[in-house]
Amino acid sequence: MVISKSFEGLGLSAALVRAVAEQGYTEPTPIQSQAIPVVLAGRDLLAAAQTGTGKTAGFTLPMLQRLGATQPGHRAVRALILVPTRELAAQVRESVRTYGRHQPLRTAVIFGGVGINPQIDELRRGVDIVVATPGRLLDHLQQKTVSLDRVEILVLDEADRMLDMGFIPDVRRILAQLPKERQNLLFSATFPEEIRKLAASFMRDPATVEVARRNTPAELVAQVAHPVDAGRKRALLAHLVKSNDWRQVLVFTRTKHGANRLAEQLSRDGIEADAIHGNKSQNARTRTLKRFKDNELRVLVATDIAARGLDIESLPHVVNFDLPHVPEDYVHRIGRTGRAGSSGEAVSLVSQEERPLLAAIEKLMNRSVESRTIPGFEPGRAQAKPEPRHEPQMQRRPEKPRHQQPRRSRPRRHGELRIDRGAEFEAQIREARMRAREEARTEPYEEPPPPPAAKEPRQPVVTKKKQRAVLLGTPRDES
Ligand code: AMP
Repeated sequence: MVISKSFEGLGLSAALVRAVAEQGYTEPTPIQSQAIPVVLAGRDLLAAAQTGTGKTAGFTLPMLQRLGATQPGHRAVRALILVPTRELAAQVRESVRTYGRHQPLRTAVIFGGVGINPQIDELRRGVDIVVATPGRLLDHLQQKTVSLDRVEILVLDEADRMLDMGFIPDVRRILAQLPKERQNLLFSATFPEEIRKLAASFMRDPATVEVARRNTPAELVAQVAHPVDAGRKRALLAHLVKSNDWRQVLVFTRTKHGANRLAEQLSRDGIEADAIHGNKSQNARTRTLKRFKDNELRVLVATDIAARGLDIESLPHVVNFDLPHVPEDYVHRIGRTGRAGSSGEAVSLVSQEERPLLAAIEKLMNRSVESRTIPGFEPGRAQAKPEPRHEPQMQRRPEKPRHQQPRRSRPRRHGELRIDRGAEFEAQIREARMRAREEARTEPYEEPPPPPAAKEPRQPVVTKKKQRAVLLGTPRDES
C-alpha cells in the first residue's frame, strides 16, 4: 500500500480536508494513513491502536465520507460507534461534529447517567450517526426508541476496555440487532483471546493495521517512585504540588471513596481539587473536567474507570496516589501525560505494601522506575496519629489504685490484659469498617480483573499474513 503524507492523497473529500486543516492537522498520523484508505474502500478493519494515536479521526473521516456519498430518502441511523465510557462517547461525538462540520449529517450521543427523554427527542428528530455506550443503547432498543436496521457502518472503539468493563455480552446483543450487510471497524489497544473471538465472530476478511503506541511510556514519560508510608501520602502529595508549583495534576486513586476523600483533604490544604468518578452525575463530571481543562482546578482526582478516554491536551503531571492492582492500568494512567508527542512526568507514591505492585509494573514495561525518597517523608518515620486500619494495641492494665479504676461487669483475673482503645480510636475503626463496606458495595467496576494469561505482542508485524495471525489468531486458535 502506498502511504500518503497528506489527507488529500488519502482520497478524502474537499469538505473533510478543509475540516481537518481547520483543526491545524498538517499530515495524517500513521493510523490515519493506514486506516483511511481501507475504510474508504469499504473493507472491514481490525486496528491495533490506542488513544493518543489519532484513531478517532482514522475512523471518523472515512466514515463521514462514505455516509456523505449516498443520500437516502429519509434520515436513519446509518453509522453506529460503540465506546466503553461516557466521556469517550462525548469526545467522539465532538470529533464527529468537528470533522463533519461541512456536511449536513446529524450525530446523537447516547449514554447513561443523564435523562433518557432528551435522547429520545433527538433520535425522533432523525440522526445519521449514533455514538453510544452499550447499556443505554440497549435501553433504547428495548423501548424501541431507536432503530438500528439501517446501519451501514459499525465502529467498536476501545474493544479491550469494553471487555475489562464487562460490556461484551451487551455488545453481542447489540450486534444481533444490526443488519448482516454492513462494514465493521474494530479498534483495540490489545487483543486478548475474547476480543479475537468476538472479532472473528462478526468481521469479514478484515484488513489489519497496527501502529506502535505513539506515547510509549518508556520513551516519553519521565517516571519516578517516591517510597512513603501509606499514612503520609496525602501530605507528600500536597508538598509535591506546592513545592514544585504544579498547576495541572491528574491524581489516580483506586476507589471512588478514596478519590472524594483525597480531593476534600487537598482542598482543605489550600489546593483547588475535585474528584471525578462513576458515582458522580454525568453533568458533574463534565463540569469538573471543564474546570480542570480551564486551569480552575489544580488537581483532578480520578479513578481508573472515570479517567478512561479523557483527552486532556499535554497534561504535565500524573500522580499514582495508589498503585493499580492491574499493571496494564499503570500504562494507561501514565499515557494521560506525554500525549501527542509531548513529554510528561508520572509520579508514584509507593507504600511498603505496594512494592510488589511496582515490581509487577516494572516487569510489564521491561524497565525499572527510579526510586527517590523525599526528605521529610522517609518511610518508617514516626507518625503523629495511628492509622485506623492498624489493629488495636494490647495494653497492660494501668497501674492505678483499685478504688480509682472504673467498675467492671466481671472481676478481672490476676494478670489479665485489657484492650484500651479509647473512644476516638474506636470511632476511627468504625469509620474505617464503614468505608470498607461502602467501597465494597459501590465499586463494582473497580475490582481488578485477573491478569491476562499471555501478553499480546506489540511490535510492528511485518507480513500481512502474520498480522492477521497476531490480531485474529490462527484458524486453529479460533476453534
Ligand atoms: P485520538 O487517538 O483519536 O484520541 O486522538 C488524540 C489526539 O490527537 C486528539 O487530541 C486529536 O485532536 C489529535 N489528532 C488527531 N489527528 C491528528 C493529526 N493528524 N495531527 C495532529 N493531531 C491529531
